[in-house]
Amino acid sequence: MNILHWFRNDLRLDDHRVLSALPADTSTLLCVVVLDDRWDAVHRLNFPRIGPYRKSFVLQSLRTLHSDLSARGNQLLVVRGSPGEVICSLATAHNIDLVTFEREPTSEEMDHEADVVRRCTSMGIKVASYDERTMIHVEDLPFPLHDLPSVFTSFRTSVERSLTIRNPRPACTALPRPPESLYDESQHSFDLVDLSAEFIQYADYQTPGIDVLPLDRLFDYTFGRQLAASYKETRNGLLGTDYSTRFSPYLSVGSLSPRRIYHTIRDFEHNVIANTSTYWIIFELLWRDFFRFRASIMGRRLFLSGGERGTRTSWKHDHQLFDKWKFGRTGQPFIDANMNELRQTGWMSNRGRQNVASYLTKTLGIDWRWGASWFESQLVDYDCPSNWGNWQYVAGVGADPREHRVFSLERQAAMYDPQGEYVLRWGERWG
Ligand SMILES: Cc1cc2nc3c(=O)[nH]c(=O)nc-3n(C[C@H](O)[C@H](O)[C@H](O)COP(=O)(O)OP(=O)(O)OC[C@H]3O[C@@H](n4cnc5c(N)ncnc54)[C@H](O)[C@@H]3O)c2cc1C
Repeated sequence: MNILHWFRNDLRLDDHRVLSALPADTSTLLCVVVLDDRWDAVHRLNFPRIGPYRKSFVLQSLRTLHSDLSARGNQLLVVRGSPGEVICSLATAHNIDLVTFEREPTSEEMDHEADVVRRCTSMGIKVASYDERTMIHVEDLPFPLHDLPSVFTSFRTSVERSLTIRNPRPACTALPRPPESLYDESQHSFDLVDLSAEFIQYADYQTPGIDVLPLDRLFDYTFGRQLAASYKETRNGLLGTDYSTRFSPYLSVGSLSPRRIYHTIRDFEHNVIANTSTYWIIFELLWRDFFRFRASIMGRRLFLSGGERGTRTSWKHDHQLFDKWKFGRTGQPFIDANMNELRQTGWMSNRGRQNVASYLTKTLGIDWRWGASWFESQLVDYDCPSNWGNWQYVAGVGADPREHRVFSLERQAAMYDPQGEYVLRWGERWG
């Protein structure tokens, strides 16, 4: 059997549903990534949909995957184009019997999936897809997905009663070769991406703290420097790269499996220490699952002004105010420092994200979707369900009725930046 795996946000070999358990009769394996039109798209608010820090990180992750595949006798083909056209044409050109991919819960991604399935099945090519992105497998939820609680605490207490997290599968040690026809020049009508050349353009855009391999970061954070043992005390930090796990960029491209994180934390608890910090890392990962599951129920409501609840709010669409926020020129030192850090590194702490989102929506009254779009462009760890779900939550249009918190900036800055060190580091001179 000839298999084509369409890599999306599953850029890893460890705990990989398809590659860790290929059917015994697999003769060739074609591994493909498609950079679709969003890669170079400009948002209607006139900024790139994918900013340089995110691009740099995605390219770096693709290079790592390519070298991991090469070490096992395969390789990664990176092609520009529409996923439906590229995948189906490649499958036809290389006599593929089965196309595999991991499903996403959000609308643009689902449109791509539907196109791939439609085109391939019309050519008689089988397609198999999987739900692997959450820590809890959707089939292990203690309720049907359509009964998912709309409030996080109800979700958490319900799943915690019988938390089942599947064991991660070890990475394969060898892989079947790509089809021979791949090396036939006449087959190359595709817009192939030269990863090294593409990466050079963004090589200067490195986000601090994520320059190591995902499993190395996981090991370092747990058994290595044992930072996991004090996560609960440090997680609201603002300066440095170790106050929180920084797993999110890896999770966003799938170079780290949430199940691998879960079981490593459990091992750490058995062998080193189990405390509220170790519990809290899993607790935060449940937030990630919650937003993913909710996104699959919400469909396009994830992106509508009234959010999940259909709340009627007359948001402002003031470009000048929005630009001041984007470029760290609101005159509010704590907000400006956070916005500068984001623009200059692709990173902002969770504390910062909550404050700047609350300021944009509750104080300036600007459409939360503008803020979510700017985050989508700038964040190195952009993840569609987490980003848009958190923005709905902070803007008060999500399903949780208790979302009407307004942050007091003075109080937040006094609590989390009492000496003003963060504002000094990322304040005016970066604006
Ligand atoms: C307005 C806003 C936008 C956000 N956009 C994103 C985004 O695009 N991508 C993203 O991954 N996270 C997003 N978050 C959630 C959170 O801020 C980040 O996951 C976290 O800061 C990443 O740092 P970390 O990996 O060190 O997290 P840690 O504090 O170490 O937490 C461990 C993991 O738990 C998960 N997690 C923690 N908090 C949340 C949360 N509130 N929602 C969902 N998952 C969570 C993440 O996967 C994270 O890697 C957003 C939060 C807000 C308020």
